[in-house]
Parts: sequence; structure tokens; C-alpha cells
Amino acid sequence: MTGVRIDVFSIFPEMLTGFFGQSLLGRAQRGDLVDLRAHDLREHTSDVHRSVDDSPFGGGAGMVLSPEPIFRSVESAQPPRPLYLLGPGGRRFDQSVAEELAASPGFSMICGRYEGVDQRVRDHLCDGELSIGAFVLNGGEAAALAIVEAVVRLVPGVMGNIESAADESFTSGLLEYPQYTRPAVFRDWAVPDVLRSGDHGRIARWRRAQAIARTLRDRPDLIAHRGGVSDAERALLDEFGLVAAEPHD
Ligand code: SAH
Repeated sequence: MTGVRIDVFSIFPEMLTGFFGQSLLGRAQRGDLVDLRAHDLREHTSDVHRSVDDSPFGGGAGMVLSPEPIFRSVESAQPPRPLYLLGPGGRRFDQSVAEELAASPGFSMICGRYEGVDQRVRDHLCDGELSIGAFVLNGGEAAALAIVEAVVRLVPGVMGNIESAADESFTSGLLEYPQYTRPAVFRDWAVPDVLRSGDHGRIARWRRAQAIARTLRDRPDLIAHRGGVSDAERALLDEFGLVAAEPHD
């Protein structure tokens, strides 16, 4: 096995395995490009009820995942490091983190549930914390799935057409240009003529102009981050009658 190995620890491993087996992820695993492993924290409980949680010291609502099953599960699986705890307060996962992880030999994630996990897991077992956004989920599984999918599609060899990843939103610092497929006219809405012109140079310029205009409108922060719009890019916007529009609210 030479690909990227990703281990995920959860009390609902079936939520993960179904997803891992389908579509691009399933193909990538069958092709030995990635090795995705879901571990059931309940397999490492020591009581008859197989309990994985308990009420919080100091009182308060809800339950907290106990340290024992998590430590034992990780110790027995010997997962690839870094091992990340998933949580809303972690380092924000984005395309650059996905690229970093896709280029690594592997990494692992622990899915919390209920009110979260015992602090000692964070302090003495994990190497860091990852968040998929400033909102609260019921558990880390949906976050783990989003991260696995974003990472695996960047692993070399996974996507058939490697150019489709290079062209995408964020990778170039811009959002993607608009895409169309057949029919050429759908409910009176026609595909832009340039795309059917066969003039590949003009098509490439139009796409670049559209990507710049769209990013200026929807994500001006990305434009600021890359140092604004160059004179050549302004000329490109002019060529297609696109203005450096005011940002959307
Ligand atoms: N009480 C916690 C939230 C617990 S949510 C708090 O206030 O911070 C239950 C679990 O869902 C968490 O342990 C975490 O693993 C997962 N989770 C929730 N929101 C997440 C997010 N934005 N990113 C990644 N994981 C998240």
C-alpha cells in the first residue's frame, strides 16, 4: 500500500463506511490510491453496556465521550499521525489544508458526539484540532466525510482528468468560471456563443475573465489576498464587456 491512509474513529462507523465505498472514494480505495479505515469506538469499551459516554464533572447538560475507549481504540489501531480531533473551534479546514494533507502519507481524525470529548483526549492523545466551519454539528462524522472527500480527490491518480482539479475554485486563487453542457438552448436560455465558437484562445480568455469577474463579485477577499487585479486582467474584463462589479452584500 503506497497511497494515503486515513483513519477515522467514531461511535457511528457505518456513517463513514457507506460513504467511503461509493463513487470516487470507492474507486480510489480499490485502486490502492487511498486506504480509508473507520474504527468503532464501542469495540474498545470495558463494561457490559458498551458505554462510550458519561455525564460531565461539574454538572451541566448532555454527555461527554469518555477517554478510555478513545485511547484504547487509537492505541490498538496505531493510526497514521497527525491525529486530529474534529471540533468547531479547531484550525479551519480549507483547500490549502486539503492540499497539504493529500500530499502526506496519511493522517487520522476523531469524531466527537454529544457535548464533545473528554479534554484529556485533546491534551494527551491528539496532535491538533480541525474544524470545517463556524457552526456546530451533532457529531464529527459529517466533518470527517467532508475532509476525506476534499483530500482524496487531490491525491495524485484519483481524478481521471488531473486538469479538472487544477482549474477549480480556490486552487488558482479564483472561483471557477461558469460551465455549460447540452442542450445549447434550455428554456430560452442559450449557452454563451463564445463557448460554441471553436476558438480555443478566445474561450480560454473568456473563462479567465469570467473567473475574475465572479471572484470580484462573490469573494472579493480572495482578490485582495492575491494582490488585486492586474492591468492585463482588466483588459481581459474589458474585452468581454465585464466590469469590475461591486461586491454582492
Ligand atoms: N459542545 C461542543 C460542540 C459539540 S458538537 C462545543 O460547544 O464546542 C459534537 C461533536 O461534533 C464535536 O465533538 C465535534 O467532533 C463535532 N463537530 C461539531 N461541529 C463541528 C465543526 N464545525 N467542525 C468539525 N467537527 C465538528
